[in-house]
Amino acid sequence: MHINVIGAGLAGCEAAMQIASHGIKVHLYEMKPNKKTPAHHTEKYAELVCSNSLKAMRVESAAGLLKEEMRRLDSFLMKCADACKVPAGGALAVDRDIFSSLATEGIKSSELIEVYEEEVCEIPKDEITVVASGPLTSEPLAEYIRGMFGSSLSFFDAAAPIVTAESIDMEYAFCASRYDKGDGDDYINCPMNKEEYETFYNALISAERAPLHDCDVSNPKVYEGCMPVEVMAQRGEGTLRFGPMKPVGLVNPKTGHRPWAVLQLRKENKAGNMYNLVGFQTNLKFPEQKRVFSLIPALHNAVFVRYGVMHRNTFLDSPRILNSDFSVKDNHSLFFAGQITGVEGYMESAASGIMAGINACRVAEGKSTITLPNDTMIGALSAYISDSSVKKFQPMGANFGVLPELENRPRDKKERGAVYSARALKSLDNYLKDI
Ligand code: FAD
Repeated sequence: MHINVIGAGLAGCEAAMQIASHGIKVHLYEMKPNKKTPAHHTEKYAELVCSNSLKAMRVESAAGLLKEEMRRLDSFLMKCADACKVPAGGALAVDRDIFSSLATEGIKSSELIEVYEEEVCEIPKDEITVVASGPLTSEPLAEYIRGMFGSSLSFFDAAAPIVTAESIDMEYAFCASRYDKGDGDDYINCPMNKEEYETFYNALISAERAPLHDCDVSNPKVYEGCMPVEVMAQRGEGTLRFGPMKPVGLVNPKTGHRPWAVLQLRKENKAGNMYNLVGFQTNLKFPEQKRVFSLIPALHNAVFVRYGVMHRNTFLDSPRILNSDFSVKDNHSLFFAGQITGVEGYMESAASGIMAGINACRVAEGKSTITLPNDTMIGALSAYISDSSVKKFQPMGANFGVLPELENRPRDKKERGAVYSARALKSLDNYLKDI
């Protein structure tokens, strides 16, 4: 007996390792290296296609709580992440290359996981299967899935450019974390005065964009959390200064003042020789990215090792298709996991892979499936994606808004986060003890 897992991304790797840890054989199908999506560049599994940040570490934050819950569920990818952290203030950022190498080695060295490097175009019938083919599911499989359910939704998502460390002009930049959190050199800050910002801003909103494919180009849906910087800028001159370029919590040691606007650069790898432009996901044409971003004084000589790109991002209308255990409503041996279910983000995708993996095993073992309590972050996200009262379904990442309201809600935000987290972890521990 075996369970199929389609896609060795974040969700697929977690699902496969969970199943193997139950002593059940896995047939893991991954189309790399023979075929790659437009956002995947390497031959390794669990590839982080854009930012190398897995978001906040503090367990009192929504993203931190999610990661702590994953740890308690014996997450394979959390172990990989902890083994290749790079400094990033309060965030858990990783060396993406080492992260994927660790994941690939873990998968390939498991005696129970057999990897088939081939593209799946149809979902096997009458076998327990977890589909974790991601937001860029290859077209033949996406077409097959569309045929199964009548429709699926798409929106656009974008990735930020990466520059070499040595090409950043430190005459104009300075190292610091916002509000001095983390180590002093976690971020390189590229400050701008009012005049420099205005020049940059005007160039950005008039720069030439790359054409979009695969979707309704005239009216693409852009996910708010990964909005291209040029689209955000068009909302008004102040938008970037209150968004990715906000200067709060930063003082330029060269002037002793808070800058007018700041672009932060975050270490891309452990070696610290590459940095990504935080919040600067973009769909500008490549030469335009070089021209416009080089107007930022610290980047006037920047060497771009990767330009930003924008891609289709496909997800199911899950409230009408999936149960909260990630199985399909009228086929309890077929599971979906990852971004394709409408959970949004690396770790959210991985967490859904854990749950789909556990539940696929339970079906194989003749047990009933489980859904975590809805006051846990993972339970709340499972409830959200399967909530049939949600009419216009949009992907959702970890946030405290999806959890049930607290009885005595503290006014202070930090305190509130601590209470949400403590309640969730207690609830998770009790639940795990019971099963
Ligand atoms: P993936 O990690 O994409 O894994 C799917 C795997 O399935 C891939 O390896 C693929 O090659 C394989 N596959 C696809 N079709 C087939 C097939 N037919 N047969 C066999 N194998 C197949 N989230 C964040 O938290 N931060 C970010 O910065 C971020 N940036 C993003 C940028 C872009 C451009 C996109 C598209 C998404 C981004 N996301 C980001 C969202 C999301 O977290 C990631 O896409 C994440 O990788 C999703 O995990 P997954 O396991 O669902 O899919």
